[in-house]
This record gives sequence, structure tokens and C-alpha cells, in this order.
Amino acid sequence: MSMRELLLRVREDGRNFLLEHEAKSFIAEYGIAVTQIRLAKSEDEAVRFAQQIGFPVVLKIVSPQVIHKSDVGGVKVNLKDEEELRRAYREIMSNVRSKVPNANIEGILVQEFAPQGVELIIGLIRDPQFGPTVMFGLGGVFVEVFKDVSFRVAPLSEQDAETMIREVKAYKLLTGFRGMEPVDVDAIKDALIKVGRIGVENEEIAEMDLNPVIAYPKGIKVVDARIILR
Ligand code: ADP
Ligand code: MG
Repeated sequence: MSMRELLLRVREDGRNFLLEHEAKSFIAEYGIAVTQIRLAKSEDEAVRFAQQIGFPVVLKIVSPQVIHKSDVGGVKVNLKDEEELRRAYREIMSNVRSKVPNANIEGILVQEFAPQGVELIIGLIRDPQFGPTVMFGLGGVFVEVFKDVSFRVAPLSEQDAETMIREVKAYKLLTGFRGMEPVDVDAIKDALIKVGRIGVENEEIAEMDLNPVIAYPKGIKVVDARIILR
């Protein structure tokens, strides 16, 4: 399916946002690295997909009525074998059914478990004056408590991407702090530029939130993605 068709189908479905797997396939088309994903429609299918992807895996609820998946017990991470996966599958189903009784459950997303690294947040907003604008910050308390983020109006040059990364106060944590290996800043730059391009090329995208993105010594991986349409 092309990206145009994907956006069209979302609209036909009466939605103004993309579900995680849709948002991830959208950004993957732009060459942004995302976790491997398969949408399972049953528990047995989830087991099969997990075996194909390889344990450990993560399970997540897929429902248009569930925007914040972990708030309703809809995410189970680091599932190491079939037994853990089956238990997690049932727990997610029962959590969501009890917390969001009207939820229309499209399935459960099986994905590779992304190992620990440095958590980032990459966002896109559409500023009424400046248009598509890329946001960058480090995950967790850095964004939520300290509001330690930087912004650049798209399209971004290499230099824009470089300076917006260096400009956050938490920058040091990317460069090999306290014995940690430095992360792949070039891969982060590349993702920021691509997010800007997505904003410029897709007028109908109002907002995008890649949270978290995990950065490694080699490469990055988008672990959760949301796209909101205008
Ligand atoms: P929410 O809709 O609640 O934001 P997320 O998909 O972000 O759901 O999952 C919640 C948390 O679970 C993430 O912030 C991350 O810490 C962890 N997580 C989610 N997916 C993965 C994954 N594939 N690998 C490792 N950790 C993950
Ligand atoms: Mg998230």
C-alpha cells in the first residue's frame, strides 16, 4: 500500500490519526528505522509472529479508542518465551476490555524488543506562522520535567540538525557520559531531517510524535509513533 492510500484509508475509517503500526510503516517509507512489527488477530498468530521476529518481543494493544496504550495496561515488554507471551496477550485483552469497554480492538501488535539505549523524543508540529517544525529532546524527565527541547523549522539542513541536537542541555548524555558509549549522532541527524521532510511533503499531517526513539552506538530505533492528521 502506498502512503497516499494509507492516509486515504485512515480518513475513510473516520479517523484523524494513524495507529502505531500505520505511523511506523509511514515513517519507514522515509527510511527511518522502526522496530519490526506484525499485527496479530489472535493469540496463536501472535505466537507465530513472535517466533518469526524472535524473542524477546513486545505486545501492544491496537485500538482507535486507545491512544495512550500503557495507561490502560495495553503494553507488555520483554516477553521471553511463548508462555510469557500467551499470558501477556490475555492480560492486555482483559485490561483493555475492563478499562475501555467500548474499545474496538483491531488486534495486538507484536514487535521486537528494543534493548536499552538513550531514549529520545522526536516530534513534528505545524506552527501557524512557520509551518512544519521539528522538535528534539531526550526522553523521560528531560522533556517532561525540564522541557529541555529544541526546535527547527523544516526543511532542515545538516547543520540545523546538528545544532538542534547540541543545543539541548542533556546533549552530554549522547557523547559517552560516565562510561557509556557515545550514541550515533549522525543517525539522529538523519532522522530529524527526514521528519522535517515528512512535514514539508505531507500537508495533511498536523503533528507527529516519535516517543520514544532509542539511540545506540550504531543507529537508532523508533519504538512508538503517533501521527495526527489535520
Ligand atoms: P504508549 O502508547 O503508552 O506511549 P509505548 O509504545 O510508548 O506506549 O510503550 C510504552 C513504553 O514501553 C515505552 O515508553 C518504552 O519504554 C516501552 N516499549 C514500548 N515498545 C518497546 C519496544 N519495542 N522495545 C522496548 N521497549 C518498548
Ligand atoms: Mg509512547
